Amino acid sequence: ASLQFDVVIIGAGAAGLFCAAQAGQRGLKILLIDHATKVAEKIRISGGGRSNFTNRDLDVRAPHKHFVGQNPQFCRSALSRFTPADFVALVDKHGIAHHEKHKGQLFADHSAEDIIAMLLAECQAGHVERWQPCTVKNVEKMADSADATSVARYQIDTDRGRVQATNLVIATGGLSIPKIGATDLGYRLAQQFGLKLVTREPGLVPMTFDGASWAPYAQLAGLALPVVIGTGSRKTRMEFNEDLLFTHRGLSGPAILQISSYWQTGTPIDINLAPELDVTEHLLAAKQRSRKLIANELAAIVPARLADAWVAQDPDWQRPIAEASDKALLRLAERLTCWQLTPTGTEGYKKAEVTVGGVDTSELSQQSMEAKRVPGLYFIGEVVDITGWLGGYNFQWAWASAAACAKSLSS
Ligand code: FAD
Repeated sequence: ASLQFDVVIIGAGAAGLFCAAQAGQRGLKILLIDHATKVAEKIRISGGGRSNFTNRDLDVRAPHKHFVGQNPQFCRSALSRFTPADFVALVDKHGIAHHEKHKGQLFADHSAEDIIAMLLAECQAGHVERWQPCTVKNVEKMADSADATSVARYQIDTDRGRVQATNLVIATGGLSIPKIGATDLGYRLAQQFGLKLVTREPGLVPMTFDGASWAPYAQLAGLALPVVIGTGSRKTRMEFNEDLLFTHRGLSGPAILQISSYWQTGTPIDINLAPELDVTEHLLAAKQRSRKLIANELAAIVPARLADAWVAQDPDWQRPIAEASDKALLRLAERLTCWQLTPTGTEGYKKAEVTVGGVDTSELSQQSMEAKRVPGLYFIGEVVDITGWLGGYNFQWAWASAAACAKSLSS
């Protein structure tokens, strides 16, 4: 006979581990399956190895403003019922020291391994059985029974044998970083059960530009500076105030990662490289009193390397500022504060932190994450079409969606 479980969870990452622990501690018999050899690889590499595990700035009354998706409002219910403070309380209970870095971002002081150890201890407290590495070969819904809640509804064939479960939770995450175990199994299972998907794209990802047009900026590789970055039409416009990093192939840094989740292929982005002051006013005033070159005056407001690369773009800018026409200075100010450029693409899933898109939220209950038309089938975490901003929001979604699911499983 097949082994029987109340719940089988596929994917032992952030959402899968947390859901398993919570449901197990409520008395359910849980099997957690992952094909990777090591548990929770994405937590391990997150936040530069220190895991930015949540964000204190998440507004529990309007949590969706930090999330991208066709219907960001979907995440509201789960995020307001399991808050960053709830997760911090768990981290504190396990004695894991942490600190706030930037804009509410909470990191472990010591290592992301502490967060993984905490989740594994929580799973142990819930008597969760974990099979890893274990390959899922096939998933099937069994014939409906009159008493559907007390019997096995799903049959899962794995390379360790066949199991049956009343409920099946898909927590297989997104497509980024395939080399540590990302697959499209979750999306394929959604399709198998007739659920709609929203097109997947790499999110929180560096952007690339056409080689020839990028050549003048390639020399800036390694330079970082605070900017205001935007994209979208007037109605859909998004803007971030973050650091920009020049790379050999294009642009990166928090500013680019944030905007990448909103950027539509083929459309421009715009960057204000000197958001702190009125550049036009500064240049026109300097013209009245200075004998320096424009590049030198510019170097007072942006890094000198950037100033040099900027004036190299126009012969009118390569002269003493006193000799420049007002028109040339206005053009320079405009070019610096509203630099418009169209990325050719992104660095793709190899470098992306997340996947935008996924299981269409209109298919799921926002209270429980259960598929509306497929009883007992749940999707949690990144596999769902909810993507957080940089800064701990993606983990908070993993914890909160897992908690909402676990609560429903045990009710
Ligand atoms: P995951 O944690 O990715 O877990 C999915 C699990 O499913 C994996 O263990 C995988 O092996 C398993 N799986 C996949 N396919 C199969 C299959 N076919 N069979 C069986 N198992 C399968 N977010 C933050 O909030 N803060 C950060 O600091 C942060 N840093 C990041 C840094 C990097 C480099 C990356 C790539 C991401 C980072 N993220 C961060 C995003 C965050 O890691 C994810 O959003 C989060 O892990 C999603 O949780 P999840 O449980 O849905 O998926």
